[in-house]
Amino acid sequence: MNPWSFDYSYRTLSEDFYQDAIPDTFADPRIALWNGPLAERLGFPASADTDTSLAAAFLGKPWREPTQPLAQAYAGHQFGHFTMLGDGRAILLGERRLSHGEHIDIQLKGSGRTPFSRRGDGRAALGPMLREYLISEAMHGLGIPTTRSLAVITTGENVHRTGLEPGAVLIRIAASHLRVGTFEFARAKDGQRLLPELISYALSRHPSAQLSDNPALTLFDAVLERQRRLIVEWMRVGFIHGVMNTDNMTLSGETIDYGPCAFMDRFNPQQVFSSIDESGRYAYSQQPIIAQWNLARFAETLLDFFAPNQVDAIRIAEERLDAFSQAFQDDWTQMMLGKIGLPNSPTQTPLIHALLDWMTRTRADFTGTFRGLSARVAAPHSGDDPEFVRWQMRWRDALTAEARTPEDIKDQLNRTNPLYIPRNHRVEEAISAAVIGNFAPVRALVTRLQTPYVEQTDGQADAEPGPDGPYHTFCGT
Ligand code: AMP
Ligand code: MG
Repeated sequence: MNPWSFDYSYRTLSEDFYQDAIPDTFADPRIALWNGPLAERLGFPASADTDTSLAAAFLGKPWREPTQPLAQAYAGHQFGHFTMLGDGRAILLGERRLSHGEHIDIQLKGSGRTPFSRRGDGRAALGPMLREYLISEAMHGLGIPTTRSLAVITTGENVHRTGLEPGAVLIRIAASHLRVGTFEFARAKDGQRLLPELISYALSRHPSAQLSDNPALTLFDAVLERQRRLIVEWMRVGFIHGVMNTDNMTLSGETIDYGPCAFMDRFNPQQVFSSIDESGRYAYSQQPIIAQWNLARFAETLLDFFAPNQVDAIRIAEERLDAFSQAFQDDWTQMMLGKIGLPNSPTQTPLIHALLDWMTRTRADFTGTFRGLSARVAAPHSGDDPEFVRWQMRWRDALTAEARTPEDIKDQLNRTNPLYIPRNHRVEEAISAAVIGNFAPVRALVTRLQTPYVEQTDGQADAEPGPDGPYHTFCGT
């Protein structure tokens, strides 16, 4: 395989869906992070050589034919408001065709302006690109569908943000960059012409196991299911995406766009980190409701294809969106019961709510509390809060009704409750060091987060919450 030769299945779509866009070239690009195992899977060199040729291959020379990079057009509801958007600081370099035929997108983020940049510079600062690399790879380590990060390459140039900051490019890998917003774009531009081809393209990129003679319904059902599973997984690990706009909701079911996201330490269902989310629209406990809202926007783009008349089409969409809530609730309950080591039995659900209530009142560390359960299967810890001890007594009664050994229960608990998540203060420390040239902490953190369920020596600092206090994240930095 020639690693520098790409496919462009996206170009089989009408030209409305993209604009040609050439990545900028940089005088002194250098690899800051390189994802060896992922690189190998995609046919790139497994290790980033110590010289700069690999960085230069991506960013040091103009990309010429047959490479045909492009910026994708899309729209989206941002905080509830519809807008036409598009890749303003991302460029699809090309697609890699894997051996079983699927296409994977290889995208540069921060490589310069595109026809969709409006007043933006199309560039990215090193800090946020490292953050996306760290958190996306942590998500992958946790076993949660996500876009991946192949590399962070420093550009050697500064970008203007609050002050001057070192610039960088992230190489992002995705099953595709199709989003609910791509469908909203097609509908706004010329739905009758553009939506049928987009539906069939989306099904070819993301085949559905369900066979049906209505492609729009097949696609809708598949996306409902993928998004339901994804949000349950975010809830499992205390992840708050922070900007669940419809342009950030993928057809593939992968987590995308690591801007203002963060993992929650102290449990608070209303937790928000994003500095611009003043109303709490994208708070932790809102995520399933917002997912359903976004999927309703998706349904609107497909209505004309669900049934020959509007009344039937709306009924079909509503039935499915209602079923989404119920199915989410069932999956969530099963997931939460898994986190306390119990089988999926409705009689046990009060135990979940009692624990979450106690955690909310005491602001218990989300990750630490659940991970700590495996050490409490036999008995409470001496320092435990009396109310937590009483909860544990009920919990242990439920566990003993199970025909499983304590070792089996502990194993199961430790496979669903991670020990390490990207703790906000640790992420900040690692990024601050990298921005002044020391990449060792960020590399160590990436490595640690590859196996978050397994105890590691010297891992204590990543297993504990940081100092209590407000933590703010930012969009589009
Ligand atoms: P995001 O918050 O990354 O989802 O971005 C929202 C929109 O703003 C997208 O259309 C981006 O392409 C665009 N955008 C964000 N940052 C920049 C930038 N520095 N230059 C140009 N466009 C940008
Ligand atoms: Mg986005």
